[in-house]
Amino acid sequence: MNKRTIAVHTPFPHPDAYGSIAMPVYHTCAYQFPDAASMTEAFSGRSGEPDYSRVMNPTVTFLENRVRQLTGAQSVTAFNSGMAAISNLFLAVAEQGKNIVTSPHMFGNTYSLITKTLKRFGVEARVVDLTDLEAVSKAVDEQTACLFLEIVTNPHLEVADLPALSRIVRQKHVPLIADTTFIPFTEFDAHALGIDVQVVSSTKYLSGGATSLGGLVIDYGTFPSIEQRIKFELLFNVGAYMTPHAAYMQALGLETLDARYKVQSSNALALATALQQLPGIRQVGYVGLSSNPFHDLAQRQFGPTAGAMLTIDLESEQKCYDFLNRLKLILRATNLFDNKTLAIHPFSTIFVSYSAAEKAAMDVRPTTIRLSIGLEQVDDLLADIQQAL
Ligand SMILES: *Cc1c(COP(=O)(O)O)cnc(C)c1O
Repeated sequence: MNKRTIAVHTPFPHPDAYGSIAMPVYHTCAYQFPDAASMTEAFSGRSGEPDYSRVMNPTVTFLENRVRQLTGAQSVTAFNSGMAAISNLFLAVAEQGKNIVTSPHMFGNTYSLITKTLKRFGVEARVVDLTDLEAVSKAVDEQTACLFLEIVTNPHLEVADLPALSRIVRQKHVPLIADTTFIPFTEFDAHALGIDVQVVSSTKYLSGGATSLGGLVIDYGTFPSIEQRIKFELLFNVGAYMTPHAAYMQALGLETLDARYKVQSSNALALATALQQLPGIRQVGYVGLSSNPFHDLAQRQFGPTAGAMLTIDLESEQKCYDFLNRLKLILRATNLFDNKTLAIHPFSTIFVSYSAAEKAAMDVRPTTIRLSIGLEQVDDLLADIQQAL
């Protein structure tokens, strides 16, 4: 079946007692068993039946199954935020003495997790330019736990050449782990591009209008020890599983994802094209523009749509503040891929805890405004931007 059909028709693991056509929210903690042997089967993970909602819950399992069918992954695990999914994944692959090869271009908290938090546990961060394949090849060695990257970086919009990077790490038996939050996993075949494990902040496109926090680890099974550790060690020991209510919202969000994504992406392309002509805007960053250096690579890997986030560079930091202060329709807020259009100055917010030198090394500029484009009529968004400029 087509992905759009799968996204709205996912079978329940058991028939619903009342014939509900939406998966109910099982706001439950513990589950009864008919006998002792079936308890053993559940606790050993063999029966796939829930025993305790820190590690398995029927509503969360339903979301995981829906994502598994849409991605063709071997296993999917839902966490209570994108950062919970990312940190559990690192706990599954890394240990003292190992290194993580990654980029300086990344979501601020993930960069801090790798370079500060994990460093305290003896994991080395090897930060390299991922567009320099030779540098990546040199950085990866026998102690490399994974190559970690974002498929489109936030807010720089650098696109990773996935098949090329995958060839480098595959030779050395190192997993390629990709944060794919920027393009919905329904738009492309992550495994065919060489990704071993996807991690997604489902808070963004999936949740259906910023309804809930969540994160997904989508594992293609090429490194069985990762799935084993996530499902049978970390869910138990760390306790960051998704809540049933969030899973309900996100399973519902997935049903409308394709429709929302198409409108938001076409809005973003129309706006990016129009903004290039406006005085006061020095540069428009959007991988959907044919003038963008990553345009062809992005189209080849992720298809015709380029997502709903774009950036504009104004003449100075002060102009960015003035612009934000004058917005009337577009909201001054963080988050991405809400139904509403959001604007933020990453330099003074998401990256505020970094020094000027660190921000320069990460190419986070004081002149950049990040826009996450929503479902509004594009003319209204353009009019608001014009008056704010
Ligand atoms: C938002 C985001 C995260 C973190 O996700 P949360 O759900 O906020 O914890 C990680 N990576 C990227 C690319 C993001 O945009």
